[in-house]
Amino acid sequence: MKIALISDIHANLEALEAVLKDCESQKVEAVHCLGDVVGYGADPGLCLELINERCKIRLLGNHEYAALGLLPTDLLNQVARSSLTWTHDQLTDRHFAIIAEFTLEMIENDLHLVHASPFEPDKWHYILTQTEAKEAFAHVRTRLCFLGHSHLPAIFGENSDGSVRQQVGHDFLPDEECRYLINVGSVGQPRDNDPRACYVTCDTSEGDIEYHRVEYDIARARAKMAQARLPQMLIDRLEVGR
Ligand code: ZN
Repeated sequence: MKIALISDIHANLEALEAVLKDCESQKVEAVHCLGDVVGYGADPGLCLELINERCKIRLLGNHEYAALGLLPTDLLNQVARSSLTWTHDQLTDRHFAIIAEFTLEMIENDLHLVHASPFEPDKWHYILTQTEAKEAFAHVRTRLCFLGHSHLPAIFGENSDGSVRQQVGHDFLPDEECRYLINVGSVGQPRDNDPRACYVTCDTSEGDIEYHRVEYDIARARAKMAQARLPQMLIDRLEVGR
């Protein structure tokens, strides 16, 4: 069964629609959403509705957690805080009801899915180094664990002796003897110097994992953000992908 894993949409409807269309051309049987549907972009409500309609598995990101009032806003930077206030004002009771059904983590078909880290999922730890990956592996309950949060595509492998390495390159066939933490990158706000939307497909029978980059109408997404008077820094980063 081929599935798609998407994360960090960040209210970017143009990127989300382009990715869902690409998923159809990849003939995936399911699209799982790993969180941060809202925050930063101009279309939080429409993105929530589309995710609710298309994804059976919908995980909570820190931005949903904050929108629900569960994350102290003084922990957010100025830009995130002002976008959160704006986002909160756009959401209706129906949108909050959609978010209320999101879960922190999920095990499905032998895949462990989480937004930030399987280590204390509600503390939103980043996994950027081998040391952080090693800490996270202690809490991974399957051979493959997919996550998002950093907006940086990355693969960490754990060898049978417990040592951890970061994979060079992206598309790969997992080694039967190893476990993996796979960061699927970001649909709506990539930060790896490639502005195209990013997502991953996984063939659960063949085992191969593939990264996809999708062009979308960045100018339109930026124009809507400008009209909504969202912070300029958030508008500019879409064009450069960092
Ligand atoms: Zn995010």
